[in-house]
Parts: sequence; C-alpha cells; structure tokens
Amino acid sequence: MDAERLVYVDNAATTKVSKSVIDAMMPYFHTHYGNPSSELYGMGREARVALEKARLGISEMLGCEPGEVFFTSGGTEADNWAIKGIAESAKKAGKGNHIITSKIEHHAVLHTLERLEKQGFEISYLDVYDNGIVRAEDLEKAIKPETILVTVMFANNEIGTIQPIKELAEISHKHKIPFFTDAVQAVGKLDINIKELGIDALALSGHKLHTPKGIGALYVRKGLKFPNLIEGGGQEKGRRSGTENVAGAVALEVALRESLGDKEGREKVRAMRDYLAENLSKIPYSRINGDMKNRLVENLNVAFEFIEGEGLIMLLDMVGICASTGSACSTSSLEPSHVLRALGLPHEICHGSLRISLSSENTMEEMDYIIEKVTWAVGRLRSMSPLYEKLLESQKTEQ
Ligand SMILES: *Cc1c(COP(=O)(O)O)cnc(C)c1O
Repeated sequence: MDAERLVYVDNAATTKVSKSVIDAMMPYFHTHYGNPSSELYGMGREARVALEKARLGISEMLGCEPGEVFFTSGGTEADNWAIKGIAESAKKAGKGNHIITSKIEHHAVLHTLERLEKQGFEISYLDVYDNGIVRAEDLEKAIKPETILVTVMFANNEIGTIQPIKELAEISHKHKIPFFTDAVQAVGKLDINIKELGIDALALSGHKLHTPKGIGALYVRKGLKFPNLIEGGGQEKGRRSGTENVAGAVALEVALRESLGDKEGREKVRAMRDYLAENLSKIPYSRINGDMKNRLVENLNVAFEFIEGEGLIMLLDMVGICASTGSACSTSSLEPSHVLRALGLPHEICHGSLRISLSSENTMEEMDYIIEKVTWAVGRLRSMSPLYEKLLESQKTEQ
C-alpha cells in the first residue's frame, strides 16, 4: 500500500494555503501589525492602507465599488448576514415575508432560512430537475406580491452546477425583489462582474481559494437597506464592528487575483477532470451527477451503484486519497445529501456518490492513481454487497 502517498482532491471543502498568500500575509503579523484604527501613527496607518487596498482590489476584480465590500469571517457569516439582514429590513418595512431559494443551497443558506421560517417567513424551494440547474421560468412562477428576497447559489458545492444568475437577477428586479447569491464556490473560478449580472448581494469565502480559514466578504449594493451585523467600535462603516483581520483581507485579495489570473491552471484542471470523468464512467453501474456543461471545471460527482459512499471514502483514505461523498449512511441520518435527492435520483444510486474537487496543484499522474484506486475500492465494496451478488447471479442464469 502507498501509505506515504497523499492525493488531496477535496478542494470544495477547503484548500491548501498557497505560498504566495502566506508571503503576502507575513508582514502584517511581524512588521505592520498595527491596528487599522490607530491611524495617528505610521504603523496603524500601514495596516489601514493594506486593508483598504485589499478591499479596492477585490471590488475591482468583482466589478463593484470598494464601499460595497464588507469583510467577514467567511462564507457562512456572509450568507447569514445577507439573508437575515434583507429579511429583517423587509419585515420592518412591512413588505412581506416570502423568500425564494433553490433545493440545493449550502446549509449556511438552508439552515438560515429554516430559522426565518420559524420566525414567520415562508420559503419556496425551486426545483433543479435531473441536471442540477434551476429554470428561470420557475422563479417567475414562484414570485408572489409578498416575495422580499430571491437567494440562489452561483455554483453548487457538491455537483458543481452553475446557475443562470443573470436571468434570475433580471426576473427578481422586474418584480423589485433583491437578488442574493452564495458565490463561495464560484468566486475566483468564474469571471464574475457583479454589476453586469445585476446582483444585489453576494457572499464569498477565502479558504476555498487558498487563503487560511476565517476570512470572507459580503458585497452589498449601495442603497440596499441593510442592518448592522455587530455593534462596537464602528469598523466596516459601522456594519460589522471588531478589529479587522488585516492579514486575512490581504490574503483574500492575493488569492483572488491569483485564481482569476490562472487561466492555464483552469484548463489543466478541466483536462484532468474530463479524463477522470471518462475513466471513472467506465466502471459498470456508475453515473455522473449533475450537468457536465454548466459546471465548474474543478468538480466531478460520480455515483456507483451497490456501494455506500462512506465505505468508499474510508477505503480511499487508506490509500492516501482525500475525497468526499454526499451519501451519509452511518452518520446522523440515513438520508443522502439534499443535493443528490433534489436531482431525483433513485436511492440506490444516491448512496454511493463520490465528489472529487480539483485544484491546479493536482497532476495527471494523480488522476491515474485515483482511477486505479477508485476502481479497486468500488470492486472491493461490491464484492461484499449481497445485492451485487444477486445481480451477478441473475445475469449468469440469463446467459
Ligand atoms: C464552504 C461553503 C460555504 C461556507 O463558507 P465558510 O467560509 O466555510 O463559512 C458556503 N457556501 C458554499 C457554497 C460553500 O461551498
């Protein structure tokens, strides 16, 4: 067994911090470690300049104003802030209590909406059909006079499908409803121009883009009514008080720039992903989950019949492969992930899913290793499956 080997293909869960990001952060730990609010002396001003430079860079790359970018601790916080904030403002203004989302949102969105539901909001969930993509006409149909928010994620974290954001935002605006998107999986991977797309609020996170964990941002369109998240010393224009994570903000800017600039890396990732897809589909009784065209190049999600996803992940871990599954069987619930269920897949297919999420650090040679080991692991798990045995028996008798 290749015990010392490590192949990390779970970049949708988190990423390795890149060397250049660490280098960019370092001065803000050792040299320019001042508090950005201590602007009376040089060291504080240096921190303030770095923070605002990061904000400006991020806003330019995303096509919005620096004053519209608020740093947060990550994607979850940005999702909570946007959704609860917009809902609270609308409720105060007596505008209504209906929110529209999709069936495949991240839990940071879904659980926030469940909380709002308990507080009297009504939530509608748009279908994603078998390809994992919402249909604009369904949004049009779901809108009511009481609708106060549409929140649909940019790209999905499990199956990588990309939603028709521009169309969804246009329909929302036609009805004067703000449009929020959880873009944690999309920022840095897709060319996003917030103003061109007509997005009113957008969440992003650094650690999916090779920064350390604990930094993210929320874009909020100027003029959109929005309550403060945290009261205190008035940082982030009083919206989110607390001494800023200067090194984190610097990291986010650098990581975003690197990610967007690495077109070559993206093409390499696409080639690796397509190679994996082609070869893993050769395993009998397998299928790819989610649309292959409108999809992040980093993502592959394959289901194998007659196995349990968790068993597969454990076997792959034994040979140094870090991947993930949407099939929870032995943990808290017996249900596979809400995303796979939303695709309308039969249970026996949902249960054996494998998510592989690549980065440009992966290599083609690693893809061969993955193909070899997944083939081995699926075979081994199937050899223990009574259902698979039955299938083989029935095939024998037919011949
Ligand atoms: C990871 C992720 C989040 C949560 O972001 P954190 O920075 O880990 O809090 C939210 N939405 C999506 C789609 C994600 O992939």
